[in-house]
Amino acid sequence: MSGAGNTTTTNEVAIPGFKQIMGHPAPLWMLFMTEFWERFAFYGIRWALVLYIVAQFYAGSGAGEGPAGLVYGAYLALVYAGAVFGGLVADRVIGYQRSILIGAAFMAAGLFMITVPNEDFFKLGLATIIVGNGLFKPNISTMVGKLYALADTRRDSGFTIFYMGINTGALIAPVLTGYLAEKYAGPGAGPAYKAVFFAAGIGMLLSLVWFYFGRRQLKGIGAPTPEAQSPMRMVWVVLGALCAIPVMYALLRIEAAKLQVVLSVLFVILAIMLVVEGVREGKVARDKTIAMMIIFFFNIMFWCFFEQAGSSFTFLADKIVDRQLGTFLFPTAWFQSVNSIAVIVCAPIIAAIWVMLGRRNNNPSIPRKFGLGILFNGFAFLLLMFALGSLVNPEGKIPFWTLFAVYVIQSIGELCLSPIGLSMVTKLAPTRLVGLGMGGWFLATGIGNNLSGIFASHASGSAGMSAATALGAYTQGFYILMAGGVLLFLLAPLIQKLMHGVK
Ligand code: GLN
Repeated sequence: MSGAGNTTTTNEVAIPGFKQIMGHPAPLWMLFMTEFWERFAFYGIRWALVLYIVAQFYAGSGAGEGPAGLVYGAYLALVYAGAVFGGLVADRVIGYQRSILIGAAFMAAGLFMITVPNEDFFKLGLATIIVGNGLFKPNISTMVGKLYALADTRRDSGFTIFYMGINTGALIAPVLTGYLAEKYAGPGAGPAYKAVFFAAGIGMLLSLVWFYFGRRQLKGIGAPTPEAQSPMRMVWVVLGALCAIPVMYALLRIEAAKLQVVLSVLFVILAIMLVVEGVREGKVARDKTIAMMIIFFFNIMFWCFFEQAGSSFTFLADKIVDRQLGTFLFPTAWFQSVNSIAVIVCAPIIAAIWVMLGRRNNNPSIPRKFGLGILFNGFAFLLLMFALGSLVNPEGKIPFWTLFAVYVIQSIGELCLSPIGLSMVTKLAPTRLVGLGMGGWFLATGIGNNLSGIFASHASGSAGMSAATALGAYTQGFYILMAGGVLLFLLAPLIQKLMHGVK
């Protein structure tokens, strides 16, 4: 364990003695706040994107919903896929701290760009956010892992705390930006989306400033290696990022199926790069990399179904859930916050459970935690099957509590899997390619997101969602998740062996 004044090593990297605050290295809290503001920006605009596209570029016509959904799906998939390049840049070119700073600056620029009401400029702005996020998101996550020695049992709970920062930002942002959109709405002009995007841009600048001044606390962790010090490298990265913007712009416009092909090819290339590097580092590193790749596969499955939360569950909430609570109609959009609240409430409990089990040497292995995550996701679909099969009232609606509980159950699954996955990558990826490994994790998430859109359209059928189409799709979802979870439990001993003692 890295205590103050000692120096411990993880892989090849020395960990300086950090001051400990609330049982964790002090820089964890700085990274927490940096990520809080970045997620504030990210989730501050997320709810508004499709609504804005339809209102601004399709004059509010329903015909705009399809194209808006397409752009939104591609944006989410690319935001996560962009992490592959960001991770590689940090590993090989300029280190983690500088990547985070450049990424934050690009993200802020993109957020201000989308305030301009021109469709092409808007998409270029989204492309800029994608590029910035790619440089920022995987690398800040990797930095968290770099604060702990390999054998430090606090690592998973450190990531779970970091995850609370993510969700606190995700919770507050829509509330604030939603308020601003209403407050500055012109008479008869609809919500003021410009205020939403502008507030998010300010949030991103705060993240940049927070990290800029806070990074001193890192005592050199994530700083460029001696050969990567040259400022010219920064110039090349900025130029490369600028060139990536039109590429992302073009990818934002292609169909989900074609994007799936692009992402899959990228995934194969990345897997080869990681395994080749693993082999180069020796048999143990090779096995660990293979174990990580197997887990990535299950990660795709998890997010494909989890992300129904933002797509098909929204139609469900809108049309098939009885949202009338006495005289109050619970807004559809508010279901999005249930996830963040559940994560914030449950994260400390789950982190404490891992630490407690760890003390008794009973902490479930990584694949088992993943298996639990997938099973919980499956239980959420089981509840939906029950609700849609047996609880539909004469008006064709299911009770409010069922969807509410679905979001909570999914969040418990997310906590068994998502922070653990981030933590896992920092333990299993080849030492010289941890950033790329993190990129792979987010690419898998991106692929899951893209597939989730395809599954969501299946759940809606060709004529829009009905209780019957939803029941059919969610029943399939349940069986796929159960099969995945059980398979992972069966494979757990083998994967554990490949991990060579990593817990
Ligand atoms: N909600 C988390 C975040 O924003 C996880 C997202 C994901 O990995 N799909 O970081």
